[in-house]
Amino acid sequence: MRANMIRRMATKLQTVRDILQQRCPRCRLGKIFPRSVFLGFPKMHERCSVCRLRFEREPGYFLGAMYISYGLALVFITGVATIFWAITHWWITKDTIWGVILFLPFAPAITYFSRVLWIYLDQTVDPDRS
Ligand SMILES: [Zn+2]
Repeated sequence: MRANMIRRMATKLQTVRDILQQRCPRCRLGKIFPRSVFLGFPKMHERCSVCRLRFEREPGYFLGAMYISYGLALVFITGVATIFWAITHWWITKDTIWGVILFLPFAPAITYFSRVLWIYLDQTVDPDRS
C-alpha cells in the first residue's frame, strides 16, 4: 500500500519533470522544442524525433494553449500585484500596472510553455495512438 503510494508520487514527479524539460508526452524521450522555452524563442518540432508523435494535431490546435497562457498570465500578474500591494500599500491599479510590466519579459516563455501544458493535457484526455 505504502510502496504503491510512493510509486504513484514518483510517477507524478517524473511527469512534472518531463513537462518542465518539455519532453514528448508519449515517449518522454523526444524534445518538443530544440532548446528550452525559458531561454528564447525556439521553433517547435513538428513531430517527436523518437516516437513520431505529431505535436500540432490539427490547424488551430494551440487555441487551447491560449487559455492556459491567459490563466498563467493572470496568476503571475495577480501574484506580483498582491506582493507589491502588501509591501508598498499603493493603489491597486498601480500595483496591477507593475504586475503587467514585470510580466511582459516572461510572456514569450509562458506562451510557449502553455503549448507544452496543452499537449500534455490533450494527450492525457485523448491520446494519439497512431
Ligand atoms: Zn515521443
